[in-house]
Amino acid sequence: MPTKTSTTKARGGIDLGGTKIPTVVVDGRSKVRGEARRPTPTSGGPENVAAQMAEALREAAEAAGVEPGALVGVGVGSPGEVDGHAGTVSQAKNLPGWAETFALADWLAKKLGTAVKVGNDVQVATEAEFHLGAGRPYTSLIGIFWGTGVGGGIVLDGKPWLGRGSAGEIGHTVVKEGGARCPCGRRGCLEAYAGRAAMEAKAREENQAGRKTDLFKLMKKHGRDRLTSGIWERALAKGDELAAELFDRAVRMLGAGIASAVNLLDVEAVIIGGGIGVRMGEPYAKRIEDAMGPHLFSDASPPAVRVASLGDLGGAVGASLLVKT
Ligand SMILES: [Zn+2]
Repeated sequence: MPTKTSTTKARGGIDLGGTKIPTVVVDGRSKVRGEARRPTPTSGGPENVAAQMAEALREAAEAAGVEPGALVGVGVGSPGEVDGHAGTVSQAKNLPGWAETFALADWLAKKLGTAVKVGNDVQVATEAEFHLGAGRPYTSLIGIFWGTGVGGGIVLDGKPWLGRGSAGEIGHTVVKEGGARCPCGRRGCLEAYAGRAAMEAKAREENQAGRKTDLFKLMKKHGRDRLTSGIWERALAKGDELAAELFDRAVRMLGAGIASAVNLLDVEAVIIGGGIGVRMGEPYAKRIEDAMGPHLFSDASPPAVRVASLGDLGGAVGASLLVKT
């Protein structure tokens, strides 16, 4: 049972994902005291999603033995366009009916009875790795979140670099001029080659054109409606040629895109996270490191390449860091 003093500086963290909403309550040392998760609603609008977020956080608080209103505050890592000062989120395309601007921080603050801060999901996960995970030994790093898309976060000289609010979009670095169509609508972006969604679209196209692959059979066999990172992993383990080819290409493009970012920023470390990044782990981090090699300008002093170490609560813990104690 947590003691009273252990939760006097307790903070909440919510990681608003496209499929699930993990939440945590951490103590003053950022140690997780309670956690809970809920599925992300697939219909409705921002208020339905926010209500689910509030419920999940309430459960995490209960598990930690603290009232939500007694928390110093709650941080939220959100996809879409996030305005941290206004506490609003718009254009969250993976969430139901969430195109317009919604005052998420105010809505949650009223519901939970404590202050709420909103930040970019990838940036808060990067900061969690920086303060508490694989990035601890370094003062400057970039986080690469390799999953459905390819997201990035930046920490320079110990401080987050947000630019004018949209920094870190490494997935939309051009790795091939006039290349493949990206989910963002532009051409030749890194995400068009390495994002799970784009790789799935390419695999489907090749399969429909007569190319043999077990990817879609595995998907059906495991009752999935999309090629999850687990399905890709199984296909690769079985020696599926198309899967291997698409992953080889993704790794080459990640190498080019990340090396270009390193040439610009000269950071000490690159932290590889995200659904695919964490699942594929060390062997793929090594492959990405090798693919970066030929593109590094200062090739005598390459950055360290590490796998994110906080697992799937990293985003929620990172969000709790938005609350200053
Ligand atoms: Zn793009």
